[in-house]
Amino acid sequence: MLDDADQYLRFSRRGILLILSAPSGTGKTTLAHELIAKTSNLNWSISHTTRPRRAREIDGKDYHFVSEETFLSLRDQEAFAEWARVHRAYYGTTRTTIESTLNTGQDLLLDIDVQGAEQLKLCYPEAVLVFILPPSWQKLEDRLRARGTDEEEAVTQRIRRAQEETRALARYDYCVINDQLEASVAVLHAILCAERTRVSRLDLSPLYSDSAHSTCDAPPIGTE
Ligand code: 5GP
Repeated sequence: MLDDADQYLRFSRRGILLILSAPSGTGKTTLAHELIAKTSNLNWSISHTTRPRRAREIDGKDYHFVSEETFLSLRDQEAFAEWARVHRAYYGTTRTTIESTLNTGQDLLLDIDVQGAEQLKLCYPEAVLVFILPPSWQKLEDRLRARGTDEEEAVTQRIRRAQEETRALARYDYCVINDQLEASVAVLHAILCAERTRVSRLDLSPLYSDSAHSTCDAPPIGTE
């Protein structure tokens, strides 16, 4: 477990939406899992999708795998805070996934595409958007081929889409180039720690109450 800003801060706060987007093959999912393993109070957002389950993926853990009929019915009931069609399948994040986590002061890590990230930034302007870039297009192509899950045509299609998606980078808050996994995890962790200490996120009321010393170890302001 990495050292964590939440260990030192005694103020309560609403949870943070930490959104990761990246072209597929950039190593975003591995990065996300590593970050969660090393960070306290950070939960994985489990999306709904209509794409077929891959070997080693677990329903209800990696995704909620649902039929197109179920997905569209949830969408029509406005159950999704965001949804998008990506690579011929639907993906979405339910409002309950987000609200139930943020309301308890826990942070939520979302691995979603640029369309979803932009929708969420509109409803949650305080969300933190991080774009993960590959070290180069050539390395991305090599990684996609090595993964062996796609036909040649799909690889070409993913590269084209990756280049299109990267146009959204300017609307993100942070950019991380994923060359070395450990280094990238450390950068993501640093971003989250900095966001956790952002004053505008903190409930400062204990500082100004009579019982400041009993509720918060930070010195009261202006009482010297
Ligand atoms: P994959 O099928 O490889 O797991 O994911 C394909 C793409 O869908 C990735 O770019 C991933 O970030 C995106 N994705 C996964 N879940 C969601 C979601 O809930 N909403 C949106 N908009 N995109 C998602």
